[in-house]
Amino acid sequence: MNRTVYLNGAWLAEADAHVSIFDRGFLFADAIYEVTGVVNGKLLEYEGHSARLQRSMGELGLVCPLSPEELLGVHREIVQRNALSEGLIYLQISRGPADRDFAFPANPVPTLVLFTQAKAVLDNPKARTGISVALLPDLRWARCDIKTVQLLYPSMAKMEAARQGADDAWLVEEGFVTEASSASAHIITSDGVLVTRPLSQAILHGITRHSVLDLATTIGVAVEERPFSVEEAKTAAEAFITSATNFVLPVTQIDGQLIGDGQPGPLTLRLRELYIERKIASAI
Ligand code: PLP
Repeated sequence: MNRTVYLNGAWLAEADAHVSIFDRGFLFADAIYEVTGVVNGKLLEYEGHSARLQRSMGELGLVCPLSPEELLGVHREIVQRNALSEGLIYLQISRGPADRDFAFPANPVPTLVLFTQAKAVLDNPKARTGISVALLPDLRWARCDIKTVQLLYPSMAKMEAARQGADDAWLVEEGFVTEASSASAHIITSDGVLVTRPLSQAILHGITRHSVLDLATTIGVAVEERPFSVEEAKTAAEAFITSATNFVLPVTQIDGQLIGDGQPGPLTLRLRELYIERKIASAI
């Protein structure tokens, strides 16, 4: 690929963008990231991603070298420079290079990186078939609300799910689903109630999750934010995940058990359609 990427104020060909081996993002996973969806060359849910980025940085005492306005400018410019119509923008901020020491450096010089990935996010064949998920223990750290680049366990979970023949993993803590490996997890009960785990340090505060819950309420769907068990998930009428690039994606099998009739649920598909329509309309 021949993308133009952003690195610490410079626009570079991807092959020319280099980061120090002493970067704390590399040595300690001392970095946070964001992923913003792009459709028709416009940013989806930018305000939410920008707010969560500020929150993640605040939790770790990281300081972004750019103001929020400048960061928005870089997002717009990277779309233009790469003629990106559909896909995503990945942003990462690390505490930067410093001699290896567990203590944070006194005067960090953060590393800020952005790159694009072109991807057909709208026409996802999995939206028509649904995905299967394997249930795996949630072995991540206790601050999953911070969007850090510490993604080894989610990678391992995806590998294990694939080994079991599933598309993704849903993570389980003490018999209750926390979230998917890289998405929020939701079910719809036989009474038509949307159930999703409440916000806490155990899950990432999904931007798509937030909008979909609002949307569900707007169209008269009851929403319950409470933990749901593995049993409840397996016997739900519908199940789905939400994330910036999957939007609303049906889950039709959990640990080999068909959900409903094994087809994407009607409410799930309605939420997907409405979500996409509204977020494209309000993209910037
Ligand atoms: N939960 C986890 C663990 C994630 O990694 C992600 C996205 O990367 C999400 C949930 C969904 O968040 P969002 O809707 O903001 O993309």
